[in-house]
Amino acid sequence: MDPLVDRLRERLGAAQVLTEKEDLLPYAFDGTAALRQLPRAVVFPGDAAEVAAVLGLAREARVPVVTRGSGTGLSGGSVPLPGALVLCLLRMNRILELDAQNLVMRVQPGVRTQAIYDAADAAGLFYPPDPGSMKISTIGGNVAENAGGLRGLKYGVTRNYVMGLEVVLADGSICRLGNKCVKDVAGYNLRDLFIGSEGTLGVVTEVLLRLLPKPAARHTLLATYARMDAAAATVSAIIAAKIIPCTLEFLDRKTIRCVEDFAKVGLPLDAEAVLLIETDGHPAAAADEASQVETIARTHGATDVRRARDAAEAVQLATARRSAFSALARLKPTTILEDATVPRSELAHMIRFIEGVSARHGLDIATFGHFGDGNLHPTFLTNERDTAEMHRVEAAMKEIFDETLRLGGTITGEHGVGLAKKPYLRQQLGDASYTLLQAVKRTLDPDGLLNPGKIFDFSEHPTSNVEHPTSNG
Ligand SMILES: Cc1cc2nc3c(=O)[nH]c(=O)nc-3n(C[C@H](O)[C@H](O)[C@H](O)COP(=O)(O)OP(=O)(O)OC[C@H]3O[C@@H](n4cnc5c(N)ncnc54)[C@H](O)[C@@H]3O)c2cc1C
Repeated sequence: MDPLVDRLRERLGAAQVLTEKEDLLPYAFDGTAALRQLPRAVVFPGDAAEVAAVLGLAREARVPVVTRGSGTGLSGGSVPLPGALVLCLLRMNRILELDAQNLVMRVQPGVRTQAIYDAADAAGLFYPPDPGSMKISTIGGNVAENAGGLRGLKYGVTRNYVMGLEVVLADGSICRLGNKCVKDVAGYNLRDLFIGSEGTLGVVTEVLLRLLPKPAARHTLLATYARMDAAAATVSAIIAAKIIPCTLEFLDRKTIRCVEDFAKVGLPLDAEAVLLIETDGHPAAAADEASQVETIARTHGATDVRRARDAAEAVQLATARRSAFSALARLKPTTILEDATVPRSELAHMIRFIEGVSARHGLDIATFGHFGDGNLHPTFLTNERDTAEMHRVEAAMKEIFDETLRLGGTITGEHGVGLAKKPYLRQQLGDASYTLLQAVKRTLDPDGLLNPGKIFDFSEHPTSNVEHPTSNG
């Protein structure tokens, strides 16, 4: 008997509340390795009023709430806390409006990112943020993590496309932040506060997205390098030539081999690095930029530059890059994907540093990522049941983050802090900024109801009266 569950069933209907262990299991983890915890129950609200009602009941019962989209997160953001209620928004999956006159789309939080791209595309428009997980991830999860993607270099990240939000606050009130106006400076920019807040400040129940006209042309190139430094030099030279490609992605030797084995697209198995480069825009400009990029790549040591002959080959190459995580995940029982990000000028150094860490600790680390953004994904191929190896992974990770911060980088370029990066956050932010972050949380969620213990420790949340342990790690 659980009085909270009874009241949730009364309010949402019995079918929208799961409590059986076998039903809860799929909600016990997200995409992050080695983190899992069964929730108390999972609920599926159908609209903002039901979200507010769930928060009200949870608050009365003093039970924490973990909001969840598709659970593809890579920092443990939607991993439940012990005894917590999971608020899953997948039922709220409607595109509410596509306003071509104002170039905006209004959507519910459970709409998949790919569905947003497809709906815009069908109207001759373009929604650029394209996380590698876009076929599965939800826009609510993208907003909550401020997700990036392969087109980030030219088009930016999710934040750059959010014009408005509807958010249910911890006290159940529903607020609308932003609108369709291109310009609006009325009051503090609270909308931006919720973008990247990882479900700790409010529940996003509607998103107003900015769209762009669809680029008329796109060119895709694959440049092969015998030396990684030459690939890094190519990136610097492309930017110095004042060309901002839409995509500028990197795979190291280990990733190339895994992806080729997985996707069979003809990647060069003897290369130390490949760059996947896309230019887009007006047909003449995109073609001219592609030619310039090809010349730059060749003059900076590319041993081969392959141009996609048609759209099908371009999609094949981009798909190969998108499959990097899945390809690597087949090798060992546990895959830990990090997203250390450094200023672009430090990329070559950082990759060499990661190689050194891998050799020193005897660990399998493959690296790929958004080279144009300085965003690397050192990916540990390991086994969480091997305790000794996991200690070495932890030590290696600390070294990588220490070096990232020493270079002026960040512990996370796009995956968020969640549980996984929590130990490193204060080191990056410093005491004053860290305390400010906690003060914001206390103001918006004084009872520590929403995803407590994520980003920073719950024990550092002095006013909380919700009962639950500090961590599920
Ligand atoms: C193969 C793979 C590739 C990936 N590639 C990328 C990439 O290229 N770029 C990138 O940025 N990320 C990437 N990710 C990470 C992940 O897909 C993103 O973080 C994505 O935004 C998560 O969306 P989701 O719907 O799965 O959210 P979830 O994992 O369910 O939740 C993520 C966080 O958002 C919160 N949340 C979810 N919905 C809401 C809401 N409506 N209101 C408030 N809070 C909410 C949760 O509490 C949690 O803290 C990848 C993951 C995988 C597995």
